[in-house]
Amino acid sequence: MPDCLFCEIISGNVPSHKVYENDKILAFLDIGPVSRGHTLIIPKEHAPDLNAGSCESAMDLMRVVHHIAPSIIVALGAHGYNLGMNHGACAGQIVFHTHLHFMPRYEGIPRSFEKQYPSQQELVEVAAIIRKEIGVS
Ligand code: AMP
Ligand code: ZN
Repeated sequence: MPDCLFCEIISGNVPSHKVYENDKILAFLDIGPVSRGHTLIIPKEHAPDLNAGSCESAMDLMRVVHHIAPSIIVALGAHGYNLGMNHGACAGQIVFHTHLHFMPRYEGIPRSFEKQYPSQQELVEVAAIIRKEIGVS
């Protein structure tokens, strides 16, 4: 889809810190994470939001959450996670390509939804730690 940031990330025209992909889904770090390891999980087929896409695509997203969540938790020493989706501008959706927010949570660190802006190096390191645990080269 022209002018869609996440389609550009899928095609590789815009760089991302990939943590996992299969033929249907891509997962990469959010550049404005609310917690260490905040990951976006997106279908490769463009749809502006969950209900504009197929039910199968929605199932594919959750299959990937189920697959990668335990590895992210172990890799980062997290203790839980929040899953979120902003559906529509009134809900805070900014990028109109369906995406799930996977936000690891840590005991002793207050649950915040404030964005942080870690360095590129920090994001590179976090993505590498997660990929290693998932088994992505
Ligand atoms: P939403 O408000 O649900 O549409 O969330 C969009 C998310 O995309 C925000 O959390 C942004 O920090 C994130 N984001 C924007 N641009 C990029 C990018 N180039 N790479 C990774 N994440 C991004
Ligand atoms: Zn798109």
